[in-house]
Amino acid sequence: MPLANAPTPLHRLRLRVTGVVQGVGFRPFVYGLALKFGLAGLVGNDSAGVFIEVEGAPDVLAAFQAALTHAAPPLSRIDSLTAASVPVRGDRAFVIVESRVISDAVTLISPDLCVCDDCLREMLDPADRRYRYPFINCTNCGPRFTIIADIPYDRPNTTMAGFPMCEACAAEYQDPLNRRFHAQPIACPRCGPQLMFLPHRADVDPVAAACEALTVGNIVAVKGLGGFHLACDATNPAAVARLRARKQREEKPFAVMVHTMDAAHLLAHIDAAEAALLVSRERPIVLLAKRAGSPLAGNVAPGNPAVGLMLPYTPLHDLLLAAFGRPLVMTSGNLSGEPIVKDDDEAQVRLAALADAFLLHDRPIHVSCDDSVVHVMDGMPLPVRRSRGAAPLPVTLPFAVPSLLAAGGELKNTLCLTRDNLAFMSQHIGDMEHLETRAAFHRAYDHLRALLRVTPQAIACDPHPGYGASHLAREIAAAHALPLVTVQHHHAHIAAVMAEHGVTEPVIGFAFDGTGYGTDGAIWGGEVLIADYGGFRRAAHLRYVPLPGGDAAVQRPYRVALAHLWAAGIPWDEDLAPVAVCPPSEQRVLLRQLETGLNCVPTSSMGRLFDAAAALAGVRQTVRYEAQAAIEFEGLALPSQARYAFTVTGDEIDPAPVWRAMIADLRAGVCIGEMSTRFHNAVADAVLALASQHERQIVALSGGVFQNITLLRVCRSLLEAHGFRVLMHHIVPPNDGGLALGQAAIAGHQLLQLQIKR
Ligand code: ZN
Ligand code: ZN
Ligand code: FE
Repeated sequence: MPLANAPTPLHRLRLRVTGVVQGVGFRPFVYGLALKFGLAGLVGNDSAGVFIEVEGAPDVLAAFQAALTHAAPPLSRIDSLTAASVPVRGDRAFVIVESRVISDAVTLISPDLCVCDDCLREMLDPADRRYRYPFINCTNCGPRFTIIADIPYDRPNTTMAGFPMCEACAAEYQDPLNRRFHAQPIACPRCGPQLMFLPHRADVDPVAAACEALTVGNIVAVKGLGGFHLACDATNPAAVARLRARKQREEKPFAVMVHTMDAAHLLAHIDAAEAALLVSRERPIVLLAKRAGSPLAGNVAPGNPAVGLMLPYTPLHDLLLAAFGRPLVMTSGNLSGEPIVKDDDEAQVRLAALADAFLLHDRPIHVSCDDSVVHVMDGMPLPVRRSRGAAPLPVTLPFAVPSLLAAGGELKNTLCLTRDNLAFMSQHIGDMEHLETRAAFHRAYDHLRALLRVTPQAIACDPHPGYGASHLAREIAAAHALPLVTVQHHHAHIAAVMAEHGVTEPVIGFAFDGTGYGTDGAIWGGEVLIADYGGFRRAAHLRYVPLPGGDAAVQRPYRVALAHLWAAGIPWDEDLAPVAVCPPSEQRVLLRQLETGLNCVPTSSMGRLFDAAAALAGVRQTVRYEAQAAIEFEGLALPSQARYAFTVTGDEIDPAPVWRAMIADLRAGVCIGEMSTRFHNAVADAVLALASQHERQIVALSGGVFQNITLLRVCRSLLEAHGFRVLMHHIVPPNDGGLALGQAAIAGHQLLQLQIKR
């Protein structure tokens, strides 16, 4: 049909975008873009991501496609964009279509995001209809992971399902040009969740009531994004002491929330990298050097050089901190090691003995998610706990693996589910010795499986016979007739840091931690492994010492010190701190145990070596929380180049000469800080000496001991000065919270090899 001024023939493109593209304003962005380019077609969410069809002139379609990636919304992350030509349909407009479920596909759910500046501004504007409304949010901010029960990410699949939108909210929700277009948790005072204070007060609003309670030193359970916090005045030592007594947490530091960066600077020394993390959308707890003479109560982080600070991340936090005007202790609402409490009913039972009052709201939390904790070393993040703000973003593995569940470690448990080359690490789950934590493990597993539409083909776990996580792994494997792959603890640590960096060639791995089950039944923890995903060779380790009472020695560093002195042939002289604190009767029993090996487990633990050094230096003889002695010992280190020296042979690190030199220093009156530095430098020297015995050039540092920034820094600079490439953790923690990633990489690799052989 010949036409005058024939227009350019139309084309139709079908585009598919995967990555973090739901709940981050991606469809409104596509809609706006299509309007801008004058294109017709459609956009929608499905369980694989976002699908788009656009119709127009070919050059315009090309420009549209380019703009999709260049101008994507700030919170989105495009992992892939594919395009295919499809028949023209003659659409007249551009529309947003219903979400679709695709059963065998996966999209990435966004983590929970802190309140954005636009929403904060509206919340503080008396003329705004959401003035002082603590559940304000938009497509750029607010809850995601913790309220989403299933995909696709639409309101009926979230815990907002029970809040029908009012007319005003619905109008915003349906307006493609509004910041709240398709913002699933959209709400306002008329239609959305409400705040409550218990015991009920008719005279003041809930935030004011909470402030009054906090002001008189009470403890208030505050419902947040991923669970309850226990809050108290961080400048009131009596309130903090009461919280410690009730939580049965004697000395372990509490995290503190401050209203602004200015308030943070009053409490801690903060560099640019630390400040950037504090204000980041993830809003983690950042471990910072305490400022002397700050208004913080001394018992918030007693004996600890660091304090963990965070900024408000929900609108409610902002209202509360602004009204209270002082920093608040904000610690997980639980008993130590148990999962954080998330439901109102549960809170009023489990937190009844801990809190004097409750600041609640009626928006349910679908899964719990603790705060993330991060340390900064030389400008780079070193995660201590990866949870809220990060989960469930995946780590990209260097190869695709069959879908599997990795059950993780015993303490600070996280689990990992894989899909293709993506490893999805769960939020922090907790210590698996508690029954409550095991239930939380199942909840996290079911949730992640639902969001990812993954059915594991195998289960990976630690071979430790006593691990609760491994027990659950065996149960799941048996129930579904799935193969169980056990992955040695320290091998998993090394694989975790390799996977983070996408490294596939063999490395010289230093796995330094407190406890891990060795292939010989001993407690390992000072390991040098030549490793890749396919296997490892134990090249060297810290010399075994008998550990009387096994892991029970963890609480009593003086006993570990005495065992070390005994193994080194050094007499237990009364002037040594760990000897002085041990009654003669206990010494006699201990000596008999060491000589006969009765109830002793041989260990190469580096964590226990630090405990022994801290005890010998006189820092502390018993501990109230994990690694307390080592943390305080590190905190005393002074800048110095002096060092002790281990005897390093081909396959063993022998600490005997370090103990002799330390005792000589003690008797010569050398200060503890100097001894601490000499000790840290000696460990780093041993790492360099052992690394230098091998041909390989990549060194991987993992295990909980590498949360020690002083040690990590010296190791890194020594190794790099000698031409090694050093792999350290930046995404998952070096402690057992990162273990599941290594288990997944190793087990996945093993399953791949089996498939190839078949
Ligand atoms: Zn917002
Ligand atoms: Zn409304
Ligand atoms: Fe470990």
